[in-house]
Amino acid sequence: MAKSKSFWGEHPEHIWLDGEIVPWDQATMHVTQGHIFAHSIFEGIRAYWNQDQEKLYVFQLDAHLERLYRSIKLMRMETDFTLEDLRTSSIELCLKNEYREDIYVFPSVYFQSHVYLNKMVGPTHTYIQTFPHASELDRTEGATCGISSWTRITDNMLPARIKCWANYRNSAIAWTQESLSGFDEAIMMNTHGKICEAPGACLGMVQDGVLLTPSVTSDILVSVTRNTILQIAREVLGMPVVEREIDRTEIYTADEIFLCGTGAEIKPVSSIDHYTIGDGGIGPVTQQLRQVYNDLIRGIDTRYPEWRTEVM
Ligand code: PMP
Repeated sequence: MAKSKSFWGEHPEHIWLDGEIVPWDQATMHVTQGHIFAHSIFEGIRAYWNQDQEKLYVFQLDAHLERLYRSIKLMRMETDFTLEDLRTSSIELCLKNEYREDIYVFPSVYFQSHVYLNKMVGPTHTYIQTFPHASELDRTEGATCGISSWTRITDNMLPARIKCWANYRNSAIAWTQESLSGFDEAIMMNTHGKICEAPGACLGMVQDGVLLTPSVTSDILVSVTRNTILQIAREVLGMPVVEREIDRTEIYTADEIFLCGTGAEIKPVSSIDHYTIGDGGIGPVTQQLRQVYNDLIRGIDTRYPEWRTEVM
């Protein structure tokens, strides 16, 4: 059977929908269903293949599912599935699709069709999609960034701290603008005029041996990767870590800037608004973090076993 594309690549043989693993072509929804209003929340989770061990590890599965359930609660969604159900189902789906490569695991929860704007409370559908997606931790080029003139949504407009699809119109408008202007990535400021995050990743800054990042009350997504990196910096690299407001002019003159997220992993930044960051290459702390992160996600480094769930 010829394979069509999912929105991030070739689609898998199977998808998990409302409690069952079904062939891709049978995972359908009615055109009137809630998804078209962006009444949905989701998680982006990665699993990494270890070729030597011939094992696939899902990274930070529990932390992602815990955030998914916070999103469900905040959006007043009801679901019949427990966190444990989605945990088991994610693993079963990875097994069923027989992956031997790096992949994404992508659960999404959306309101059923009769839930409408005047009372957005109620039952949902859930699906889990998986698709191949290789790591880019070995990239040697830093990203060029522009600070967007679009402002990041603030917490009393939309729940910025969770992964609600509606938030991503804000991300898309900023990212599209910066990419049309020739930059790889956008960096957004919040309503207080402070540095916030990229449209799909958090921001880390290294200055004089200290790792700084905007705090979780700066309208950022409460990122799993950001938490992971802060822990690695403190406990593995022995670096001081500070979570505080960051000014625009601080990032132009920083020693190192990187973006971090499940998708971005740890992405070095080479310039912002045409200001070269450091010497424009990959800074030593960013490089060290990438090395440790790479070894942890693949189970090469066996520390923090609670971060990896083996697919078996
Ligand atoms: N901010 C935004 C807006 C994102 O979409 C993402 C990617 N999920 C992140 C930050 C990083 O979050 P995480 O590390 O949990 O993937």
